[in-house]
Amino acid sequence: MDRSECRYCKKVIGWIVTTKGARMPVDPHLVKVDGEKLLVFPDGATARRHLGFIGGYVSHFATCEVWLRIQANKRAAKKATLARSQR
Ligand SMILES: [Zn+2]
Repeated sequence: MDRSECRYCKKVIGWIVTTKGARMPVDPHLVKVDGEKLLVFPDGATARRHLGFIGGYVSHFATCEVWLRIQANKRAAKKATLARSQR
């Protein structure tokens, strides 16, 4: 797996090519599935829920604290813009 540094939180991330051909940043260790996070399997398949699967890579977008904070801020800003435009 290709590895690099997350440009948001500077943690080491791995790259997996999904079955759709997209490069996906993942945490570079296999984890047990919790049924909620976006999982990427070593063969590139992705799934949000995967009953009975014992391990996969979690999309780094699901765990990157800096990225999640940026997304939350974006959502808040969008909401504020929407609220203003509806006045
Ligand atoms: Zn990150």
